[in-house]
Amino acid sequence: MRIFYSSNYTIAAHSFETTRKSGWIAESLGREPIAGIELVASEPTNASALSRVHDPGYVDAVRNGNPRELAESQGFHWDPGLWEMVCALNGGVIAAAIDALRTSRVSGSLSSGLHHARRARGAGFCTFNGLVLAAGAALDAGARTVLILDLDAHCGGGTHELIHGDERIWQMDVSVDAFDQYEPLGNNQLEMVHDSSRYLPTIERKLTWLEREAPRFDICLYNAGMDPFGGCSIGAGCRGSRKRFSATVRKPCSHGVGCGTFPSHSSLRGDTSGRSSTAQGSSRSTGSRSKQRALRMTDAPWLGLSHWKPSTKDGLVR
Ligand SMILES: [Zn+2]
Repeated sequence: MRIFYSSNYTIAAHSFETTRKSGWIAESLGREPIAGIELVASEPTNASALSRVHDPGYVDAVRNGNPRELAESQGFHWDPGLWEMVCALNGGVIAAAIDALRTSRVSGSLSSGLHHARRARGAGFCTFNGLVLAAGAALDAGARTVLILDLDAHCGGGTHELIHGDERIWQMDVSVDAFDQYEPLGNNQLEMVHDSSRYLPTIERKLTWLEREAPRFDICLYNAGMDPFGGCSIGAGCRGSRKRFSATVRKPCSHGVGCGTFPSHSSLRGDTSGRSSTAQGSSRSTGSRSKQRALRMTDAPWLGLSHWKPSTKDGLVR
C-alpha cells in the first residue's frame, strides 16, 4: 500500500500533535518497517484547487497570514510554513484518492487536520477539508459516488457543511465526542456513541444500513482517528483494547474502496493483510447496473463483525 507523505507535512512552526504526528509515524516506519507499506512523496495542492471548496478570501488569508485572525482560525499560530504544510497535507489526501482509483488498491496519506474545516474558515485544528477536496478530485476522475467514512472521535461538521446538497457524496460519521456535532441531513449520517460496548456494533449497524440504503460507492475516503482508542484521553468514553480498535481501523479499508488518513503506526500495520481488494466501479457499467451494490457485507470472523468485499458481478475496473 502506498502511503503519501512529505517532510512538508510537519513544516509549520506551530508545534502540536496535528502538525507533528505524521513525522513521528514516518520515523517509526523507518525504525520498524511494515511489509507492504511504501511511503511516497506527494505533490502539494494549490490555491486554485483549494478555492474550489473554500472561499478564495480564506485561502488567501492562510497563504499570506492576513487577516491574521482568519489565517489562525483553525487554532495554529501562522507562519509561512503553515501554508506549505496544509498544501502538502491536503495534496496527500487527493493523491491517495486518485492513486486508489487508478490502481484499484487501498492508498493512504499521513494527513490530519481536515474534517472540521469550513468553507470560509478553519476550526478545531483543521485548516482545509482534504476529505471534500479528495472527494471532488475523485468525482473529476470518474467516480460517481463517494463515501466519506469518518471514525474520528469528533464529529465532522465541516465536511457536513461542505458536502450538504451534493447527492454524489455521502458521509457516515460515528463519533464519541460532541465537538462539531451537527444535525444529520440527507446523505450525511451521524451517530453518537456514549457506551464503549456499543462502539463497534454501531459501526457494524451503520455499514449494514449503508449497504441496504445507499447506492454503490466507487470510492471510500476513510478518515481514521486515533482518539476513539481507549488509551487516548479523548477516547476515555469508548475504551477498548488496542487490538480491537486496530481491527476497527482496519475494517473500513477492507471495504477496499480507496484511501484513508492514518493516525498511527499500528493502524497501518493492520492494513497489510491483503484483504484490501478493491471495489472501484467502472464508468462503463452504468445503466441498469447503476443501482447494484458494488459492495457486499460478508462475515469476517477475524473481527467478529462484518466487512464489505467487492462484488464480482459489477464490472469492476482492475
Ligand atoms: Zn478528533
